[in-house]
Amino acid sequence: PAKIEINGLSKVYKGRNGDVIALQNTDLTIRQNEFVCVVGPSGCGKTTLLNIIGGLEKATSGSVKVDGKEVTGPGKERGVVFQQYALFPWKTVLKNVEFGLKLRGLGKQERKEKAESYLEMVGLKDFADSYPKELSGGMKQRVAIARAYAVQPEVLLMDEPFGALDAQTRAQLQEDLLRTWQKEKKTCFFITHDVEEAVILAQRVIIMSARPGRIKEIIEVDIPYP
Ligand code: ADP
Ligand code: ADP
Repeated sequence: PAKIEINGLSKVYKGRNGDVIALQNTDLTIRQNEFVCVVGPSGCGKTTLLNIIGGLEKATSGSVKVDGKEVTGPGKERGVVFQQYALFPWKTVLKNVEFGLKLRGLGKQERKEKAESYLEMVGLKDFADSYPKELSGGMKQRVAIARAYAVQPEVLLMDEPFGALDAQTRAQLQEDLLRTWQKEKKTCFFITHDVEEAVILAQRVIIMSARPGRIKEIIEVDIPYP
């Protein structure tokens, strides 16, 4: 599951100095289990597109459907990872990962086991009882990824999750993310400034134009086996 269909999507912000067009009449279909990267200059509408798919913002017109179902708000089938880790500083790493599971009504023991298994997946089992401030940037971002994965969304929406990290850490997390994706196929929508990162990660790279809100080109990176 988790095919995303975007049709005629537009977003206009009412600004103090007039309207800002963030997306204009955008069409895009993301195949199930596909890893798509979106690149483009600052201000071209990448985050707006992600936020609308995530149900965090409303479109001015047009529609987004996930598996044929119209997106009207946030939903548990769509997990979001932001650039800034957005971890609770007063909660341990384990409790941070458990948080989303608690919201979904899982019992205490099940929550703990699931959170631990996803921490293990990102190589942070030994840091379960640490607090975010004790971790490096890369480690915090891994916690954020574990937290998103733990609730087992069909779709992962990632807004420059590695943007704040140094090159070496970024390369490590790219590798980890790809390995995770190959193991637990998910539809991934990943925003980046870094064209190299896009080509490493994506099956298709969506290039958005400096003229806001337009898709300029879609490049197939991985040609799937027949
Ligand atoms: P990107 O993620 O590609 O940098 P954004 O989606 O953040 O682009 O922004 C697209 C355009 O919409 C930009 O011109 C930006 O200034 C504008 N914009 C984004 N959010 C708002 C907002 N809340 N109010 C007004 N304008 C906004
Ligand atoms: P990352 O690549 O996740 O950003 P670093 O390069 O900062 O991690 O650190 C490399 C390794 O050093 C980590 O995988 C971890 O095992 C260890 N490490 C980093 N920060 C800490 C810390 N605050 N306490 C204990 N070990 C740490």
